[in-house]
Amino acid sequence: MANSKYEYVKDFEVNDNILPHTWIVIRIDGRAFTKFSQAHQFQKPNDLQALLLMNASAVAVVEDLADVVFAYGVSDEYSFVLRKTSTLYQRRASKLISVICSLFASSYVMNWGKYFPETKLQYAPAFDGRAVCYPSESILRDYLSWRQVDCHINNQYNTCFWNLVGSGKSTAESQNMLKGTTADVKNNLLFDTFKINYNDLPQIFRKGSIVYRKKVEKVVKVEDGQEIKRLRSCAVVEHEDIIRDNFWTQYPYILGG
Ligand code: ATP
Ligand code: ATP
Ligand code: MG
Ligand code: MG
Ligand code: MG
Ligand code: MG
Repeated sequence: MANSKYEYVKDFEVNDNILPHTWIVIRIDGRAFTKFSQAHQFQKPNDLQALLLMNASAVAVVEDLADVVFAYGVSDEYSFVLRKTSTLYQRRASKLISVICSLFASSYVMNWGKYFPETKLQYAPAFDGRAVCYPSESILRDYLSWRQVDCHINNQYNTCFWNLVGSGKSTAESQNMLKGTTADVKNNLLFDTFKINYNDLPQIFRKGSIVYRKKVEKVVKVEDGQEIKRLRSCAVVEHEDIIRDNFWTQYPYILGG
């Protein structure tokens, strides 16, 4: 490209390369999804289809970007973890955030009809995004634990709240009843008043969703009516506990690879 007298404007751009050899987390979050969830009649507290649509959008991101080794999602948010040595977009925060955000949002819209066949998409949803770098595996694990604990706390509160509202209490009344209550009190309220055993609620509501690559058996072709299967690496969605060590010792390649 020929130089022009206008080229100097490039010098106004800021450097936003993220520190090398650190874990990059891009967290995206639905913009005004309180309103979006009302406009599209999401079931409260947890609309399963909406969560599955979030998961499908996250899978699209993981499948497209090889450097995303793990993702964790809850409610209208998703965190994408890039491998420590990634040099994707020279680790430029603005590039990483904008590509992941737009890929996620366009996948969300593309998949809408599959998860909400009866509900017309009323307007274009948007997601905000941020990049944070974590210098060690243990801090990255704490970050992911923080999100999963948040999932649990919010889910427990929301399950109580919406059951109270469903039983005829006003939103203000329900909020007041829950104000300052401990986890035990909430669990007992669910069990005694609504006959709900918190631990029996679907794992996807209590634990959120994780996406990572795993070798699974896939049918690659059919010969004489026989399915030929091969191990193939593909993105899977699960709802495991990621706070304890179990998961990470079972799949050491996720953060170690
Ligand atoms: P902001 O733009 O600041 O993020 P927000 O309205 O999206 O505003 P959040 O704190 O992100 O605020 O909360 C997400 C909202 O979306 C909550 O009100 C939550 O109940 C709703 N929501 C998200 N996913 C679901 C779902 N699967 N089922 C029901 N409601 C959902
Ligand atoms: P990067 O991801 O680095 O941006 P890129 O392939 O998008 O890669 P650009 O420098 O942004 O590279 O160039 C945009 C490309 O898209 C060019 O190849 C251009 O010809 C093509 N393109 C964009 N808009 C049009 C259009 N309206 N008609 C035809 N081609 C287009
Ligand atoms: Mg927000
Ligand atoms: Mg939001
Ligand atoms: Mg949110
Ligand atoms: Mg381009």
